[in-house]
Amino acid sequence: MKNIKKIKDLRVYVRAAAMSRERIGLVPTMGCFHEGHLSLIRKSAEENDITIVSIFVNPAQFAGGEDFSRYPRDMETDEALAREEGVDYLFSPLEDEMYPPGYGTFVEVGELGRKLCGKSRPGHFRGVATVVLKLVNICGPDALYLGQKDAQQAVILRKMINDFNMDVEARILPAVREEDGLAMSSRNRYLSPAERASAPALYTALCEAKQAVLEEGLAPVEITRQIRESLSRAEGMDIDYAEVVSPADLEPVRDAGRPALIAAAVKLGGARLIDNVLLNCEEL
Ligand code: AMP
Repeated sequence: MKNIKKIKDLRVYVRAAAMSRERIGLVPTMGCFHEGHLSLIRKSAEENDITIVSIFVNPAQFAGGEDFSRYPRDMETDEALAREEGVDYLFSPLEDEMYPPGYGTFVEVGELGRKLCGKSRPGHFRGVATVVLKLVNICGPDALYLGQKDAQQAVILRKMINDFNMDVEARILPAVREEDGLAMSSRNRYLSPAERASAPALYTALCEAKQAVLEEGLAPVEITRQIRESLSRAEGMDIDYAEVVSPADLEPVRDAGRPALIAAAVKLGGARLIDNVLLNCEEL
């Protein structure tokens, strides 16, 4: 495995791979790997000749006052894990390499970026889409590996790929969870022991809501109410949103029989947790 910091150095390998018609998988991450990241890496290694994993804590997707400076970073462990998983190239550029002085072009993601998490994180998805577009241009992948845990991100990136006629396939994989159901996230380490104990209530509430739809035909407005009620009983949780939306356009779904994404976000101590479950469909 090679750990590469410069775009021009990575391009030498990407060009060689293209010449020999090797299939490239790209896994974009902000590092501090957990099993969720590793599941994407393993899938890419299985489906491609070459796997590139990027580690870049992207300043463009953090608003002022968010956790950019304290976001966990652990390059040494990540490098060892990537090596173990058979990653070919770890791309870990410095900030200036991705956004040199005078940098000025950003992806406008439109309405999708203003829904759900976009309401409390304006500009977040503009930053995500911009860095992923750049990474795809740098790495020339055939497939891009994304987690369904960040469902809105996956929907927005899939749309960007389509809208910009990008020649890459989005592979969206299920969330990997702790034994108690909490979706793995680098931000879980912000939780105190007491907060960590109440964190699984988020996934439990989503699962119970889904169950209530399937068994009792609960209507989407009722689903939202039930999730809010359930979360308000969990110690220390401050609800940001709980919504039932279409996976296609993130618009609210009114008919409980249609494919839907039941998504919620909460603040719990110093962490913002998001999670979702799918209803009437197997994948996003
Ligand atoms: P991050 O490093 O948090 O930006 O995540 C990098 C990629 O890993 C994104 O595509 C995420 O959706 C995905 N990811 C994060 N958490 C999980 C998880 N628990 N299970 C599966 N994929 C995940």
